[in-house]
Amino acid sequence: MARALIPLAKEAGLPSCWAQEEGAQEEGALDDGALDDGAQENGAEASPGIGMEREDRLALIVAVARAVIAHEGELTRLDQAIGDGDHGVNMRRGFEAVLHEADALAELGTAAALEAIGYLLVNRIGGAAGPLYGTLALSMGRHGGNAQTLDDWILAFGQAIEDVKRRGKSEGGQKTLLDVFVPVHAVLVEKGAGAVAQLARIAEDAAEATRPMRALRGRAAFLGDRSVGHVDPGARSASLILGVIGRVLCGEN
Ligand code: ADP
Ligand code: MG
Repeated sequence: MARALIPLAKEAGLPSCWAQEEGAQEEGALDDGALDDGAQENGAEASPGIGMEREDRLALIVAVARAVIAHEGELTRLDQAIGDGDHGVNMRRGFEAVLHEADALAELGTAAALEAIGYLLVNRIGGAAGPLYGTLALSMGRHGGNAQTLDDWILAFGQAIEDVKRRGKSEGGQKTLLDVFVPVHAVLVEKGAGAVAQLARIAEDAAEATRPMRALRGRAAFLGDRSVGHVDPGARSASLILGVIGRVLCGEN
């Protein structure tokens, strides 16, 4: 199955994910013509609708969970460098629970599935990351209850990031997973559908950009200047998850 989850992108005159990957039309992705076509497509709304069905949700949930589990070793090594070495195990535990429940989760609507995933992650990941990833998913589900278009989901993502900030008493620039979520959200707000095909690269660049930062939150903050020179483990797991979401939304699973 390789069906793009933004089928309206094409119908609305927006470039396909593949065209974006090849660098075509990047600048004019959301030109007036495209927006007009989009408005015709679904009334007043210019943002592409995301036609999530059960099989789409299942593909997304399974792909994200498998990727996190497959990267346990990398996340462990990153957390060994500036933390206590448990981020890989924590994330694997959480996403194994998600994978185990994947069929039942996919039966729910997208927002309800996100809420349920949030509860699973809070309960199963543990550490600092559990409540933070749990809050993100739970909050996106709550804020995305009526979401239908990509813009609606981008809005819900932004609201969920604010909840994560409150939960972690943190903000961007402190060498945490927020240093991936915040800039990726900003690019999505700016470019909309045009950013989806680039999500993996944008997120990976954002994670890499935590390397020269000095940690101000979490265990790594205890290291002070010695946290400089290492990618933040939570930023890496965040980039991994967003990258997979971008690829699956483009039908590249
Ligand atoms: P722990 O730090 O309890 O061992 P993990 O190793 O699973 O938990 O997760 C560590 C990651 O959590 C860090 O790399 C960082 O990205 C993130 N993190 C920790 N504390 C905070 C915070 N207050 N705000 C945002 N992110 C945080
Ligand atoms: Mg840790």
